[in-house]
This record gives sequence, structure tokens and C-alpha cells, in this order.
Amino acid sequence: MGRKLLLHNQNVPGINTLEVYRTHGGYASVEKALKTMTPDQVTEEVKKSGLRGRGGAGFPTGMKWSFLAKPEGVPRYLVCNADESEPGTFKDRWLMEKIPHALIEGMITSSYALGARLSYIYIRGEYFYVARILENAIKEAYAAGWLGKNILGTDYSLDLSVQVGAGAYICGEETALLESLEGKRGNPRIKPPFPAVAGLWGCPTVVNNVETIAAVVPIVNEGGEAYAKIGVGKSTGTKLISASGHINNPGVYEIELGVPVEEFIFSNEYCGGIRNGKKLKAVVAGGSSVPILPTDLILKTAKGEPRLMTYESLSDGGFQTGTMLGSGGFIVMDEDTSIVKNLYTFARFYHHESCGQCSPCREGTGWMEKILHKILSGKGTLQDVDLLWDIQSKIEGKTICPLGEAAAWPVAAAIRHFRSEFEAYVKNPASIKDVHHYYRLHNLAEA
Ligand code: SF4
Repeated sequence: MGRKLLLHNQNVPGINTLEVYRTHGGYASVEKALKTMTPDQVTEEVKKSGLRGRGGAGFPTGMKWSFLAKPEGVPRYLVCNADESEPGTFKDRWLMEKIPHALIEGMITSSYALGARLSYIYIRGEYFYVARILENAIKEAYAAGWLGKNILGTDYSLDLSVQVGAGAYICGEETALLESLEGKRGNPRIKPPFPAVAGLWGCPTVVNNVETIAAVVPIVNEGGEAYAKIGVGKSTGTKLISASGHINNPGVYEIELGVPVEEFIFSNEYCGGIRNGKKLKAVVAGGSSVPILPTDLILKTAKGEPRLMTYESLSDGGFQTGTMLGSGGFIVMDEDTSIVKNLYTFARFYHHESCGQCSPCREGTGWMEKILHKILSGKGTLQDVDLLWDIQSKIEGKTICPLGEAAAWPVAAAIRHFRSEFEAYVKNPASIKDVHHYYRLHNLAEA
């Protein structure tokens, strides 16, 4: 059994309440930081820990914090990105729902390190019930003096507020999130300037994912070096993985980074193998936007080494033979899965969620959806497969925000590794099984 730093108390009855959370050591990191450490010392521990952003990008958190501009007399903000909307990813919801004080504690300790006096948790609209859980926990924290003026009798004061989004995936992009938080349409901003210099209301801002902020708690409690000893290489600490799809034990798992992918899929400690005795066909390892990999490449790298659940091992081989750890949305597909249909579902999603600011994303996502629809309608041609490839290649790297890549990468990987499936649908439309059910499901006009 690997160590658990975030979910170790998840089954304790009442752990969502301040009283029980406190009896299990809760808020110790706030006491330690505010009473015995300077803000810079807290940042130093986070740097030593090697913690990387758990929202998907994997950027070193301590480095991100050290970029924060600190002009005299200008407020700074910490904004928690709880707009968890990447298909296949539900680990932040789990954490906030089960142990809301873990996030609030992390927000206080992190805000202290950054010198923020007002911080926000921006949560996706569909998580309205989780927002209520957080608001109740925040109320408890205020009543007990963990938030508000002069926390623990120190001169540090902090207000914390929950802002609920309105159901747009794009608001998970940090600058779109800031626009939305300011009350505007959630369109991503052109960078630079980066939020560390001009973020919320033009002030220096750090935007961190829920899991990242919660991880600051064990880092401060146990020290950055102790945290860095867990994991492999530059993939330190533990990671929450939302496992879904055709597995026996779907759910949220906290793993020590470095667990072999094969063990994660087949061991009873985690996913418990493929359901109904089927064979594994493919895995989307880090949320819908990362490249899909077939069985041979998800279990082993192209060099024949066991693939590990780390940032480096999953991306070994680049996108030719590798993928990304991403947000940890681990979607497992069995031998009966249609890669083309799965891709169509993703393509519809990205087309729907494109904010429309840049032409390659606005037009390209819709075009790719239409071509996939055409193929699934039994009217596709081999040229359509080539056209799909061409369109995705003209989106990547040519857009304001990463949604363009998020839409292009799944298309590229599906064609790269499963081209024969596209061709089979084109050459033999009768092989498109369950098509009537599929049309009903997606409310499409029959071809
Ligand atoms: Fe909007 Fe797409 Fe451009 Fe991002 S890439 S700014 S979502 S149009």
C-alpha cells in the first residue's frame, strides 16, 4: 500500500466537519506556518517538495509562486481553480466533497505564503452542491478563527470566498477563469502578461488547482524534503487519479507517483482489471485531451520499459509513442470499444466548449466533428481521414489557449494508433455496430 497524504482520512465519519478534521490533525499546517515560518520559508518548502501543478500542466508549484510580482501597496490574490471539467476527471470533486477543510487549510497556508489577504475558490457550476459543502466549511473556519482578522492572534488576516461558475469548460483555463471571476465572459486572455504579473483585476495572482493547494498541507507539516522522497525523479509526492471506463473498480485513487501503469490497471488495490474478463484495448491516461494509447504502448514504452504513472514515463517517446499524466483522468477502454465513436464524443465536446475567439479552434473543432459524424453515418471516404489529420495539424500551436491542442491531440492520436478502424468504417459502413442506438443517444439525424 502506498502512502496517502490527502485521502488518508476520507473514511473517518464526520471528517467533513471542522471538529473531526481538527481531532485528526487538521489545521496544523496553518499553526506551523503562521507561528513559526515566514512566508518565504513556506514557499521554500514547496520548492523543495518538487510539487507540480496537479491540474494538468505539471508546472513546478514553488517556481510558479516565486514568479509572483510583489509591488508595494498592490493586493495579491490566490485563486483556486476548482473548475474541474476535463472529461474523465473527478478527483477534485471527491476531495472537496469528502474533506473540504483540506482545501481550506491549504488555501490559508498558501495564501499566507503568497501574501494574499483575499482568496477565491472558483468552482464549476455543475458542482453547486460541492460549493455548498465548501461554504459551510468556510463558515465553520471563520467561526473558529481560522479565517478572518488576525488568525491565531498573528497580524495575518485572510478572507476566503467561493465563486460558482456557469458551466463552461473554458473557464478552467486560468485567464478565462479570471475573466469570469471579474464578472465577464470567460474568454482566455492573450499572454503575456501572465497572471503572476497582471491577474485578477490587473493584480499579481497565482491560480492553482484544488489538489495542488491541498498538497501544501502535508508539505508544510512534514517538510518539502520528506515529500520529495515519495515518487520517482521529478514526479514527487502522491497524485489523485480518477479511474473510469471498463474496469472492475472505478473510483478515485491516491497513488505514490511511480506506480507501474500495469499494476494500476490490473491490481485489486486499484482498478482491479478489465470488467467481464475482456481484454484491454486502449487508455486515455490524463483526461480527454491527452493522446490515447493502445495496450502495448500504455503498458510499456517504445523502449520496452514498464510505463510508470509519472509525468516523465507517460510522456516518454513524445506524442509518437507516449502521452501525458495530465489531470489524472484515467479512462480505460476494453476490446469492444469503438475508437472512432469515442473520438466523436470528445470532438463534439470540444466544439461545444470552444469560446470562438480564434479561427483554427472555432472552425477546426466544428469541422472535425462534422467529418467524424460523416464517417459514423457511413458516408466517409479515405480522403476524410486525411482531412481530419490535416485539420488537427493546423490547430495545434496556433491558438490563444490550450483548448485548441486539447481538441487536436485526441484526433491525432486516434488516427496515429487506430487508423485501420477509421478505414474499416469507410470501406465497410455495415461494420459500424450499434449505430441506431448511437444515433438515439446523441440525437442525430439518421443518415
Ligand atoms: Fe477560445 Fe479555442 Fe481560442 Fe481557446 S483556443 S481562446 S477556446 S477559440
